[in-house]
Amino acid sequence: MQALRKTRAAAGLELVEVPVPRAADVRDGEVLVRVHAAGICGSDLHVDDWTSSYTFIAPSLPVTIGHEFVGVAQAGPLAGRRVVVRPSVTCGVCAACTAGEFDRCEQRRGIGMTRDGAFAAWVRVPQRNCVPVPDGVSDELAALTEPLTISMQALRIAGDVKGARVLVMGPGTIGQGIAALARRAGAAQVVVSGFDDAVRLEALQRMGFTQQVDVARGSLAEGVAAFMDGQRFDVVFEATGVPETIQEALPLLRRNGVVVVTGIHARPLTLDLTPLVRNQHQLRGSFRPPESDWPLALDLMQELAPVLEPMVSHVLPLSQAAEGFALAHGKKACKVLLAPEPSDG
Ligand SMILES: [Zn+2]
Ligand SMILES: [Zn+2]
Repeated sequence: MQALRKTRAAAGLELVEVPVPRAADVRDGEVLVRVHAAGICGSDLHVDDWTSSYTFIAPSLPVTIGHEFVGVAQAGPLAGRRVVVRPSVTCGVCAACTAGEFDRCEQRRGIGMTRDGAFAAWVRVPQRNCVPVPDGVSDELAALTEPLTISMQALRIAGDVKGARVLVMGPGTIGQGIAALARRAGAAQVVVSGFDDAVRLEALQRMGFTQQVDVARGSLAEGVAAFMDGQRFDVVFEATGVPETIQEALPLLRRNGVVVVTGIHARPLTLDLTPLVRNQHQLRGSFRPPESDWPLALDLMQELAPVLEPMVSHVLPLSQAAEGFALAHGKKACKVLLAPEPSDG
């Protein structure tokens, strides 16, 4: 079968021929999943570029990447069912895991990072990572489950946004999900900003978010002024991966306001902390949601399907992975899904 792999500790990815995993390769508690579609994530772009935030995967190379996927489980309790798969694999032996508190495991491996992932027709995964997909949820939307859980966690970290003025910086998949969930949670106003982001901002228009700023055309402060009536934001979500965007947002945040940082940043930030202290700004990181969010995310998919549909802009065959990555790198797409050929493997 074809597999999109990171083969060397350097920039680039390779589409290579690898053996289909055999039943004998499947360990206790694992299952093979026939992949229907897998999304290209910002972290896959980091792995492609080989930025410092992802060089930790070097000891696992060569590795097939792809961690946002939907497919059909071939055995086990969910045999024959469509499933999405939590990419974070707990160790099963640490104190937290043996106590059944998997969310506290610190010895994780990542499917599509430090073990083979889903840019291939077949992937071997732990059974306990599989979550059944309701019939009403399409493959395209189901492939967004992992990023939607990241957006859910960002909302949780922010706290109650009911009635809040919200700025979402970064119109990619995570930002789009945050915008949709903030509105669902009762935010009074959701403004979205991007940088030279016509395609992704246009998708947000179709999702119903009309208050937008493209900072390629002017400063963030000037751009949001049109929507803010002299007020400042209660909550700012950073989903850009560009650290300097936080510096631009803090002056727009009210006293005691909250900043939730979700991006993985390729370099550090120099930040003047004195205004942060004087304004009691709450700077919070948000990363991995609890496992229990996964079925809830699928329920949200069902509820919000018409809103979320513009989040997937392309479904390409895996053989066109290079084109898919070029679209994602160039911000000429929203979520790009790669689908292995039904005949492959
Ligand atoms: Zn991802
Ligand atoms: Zn563990």
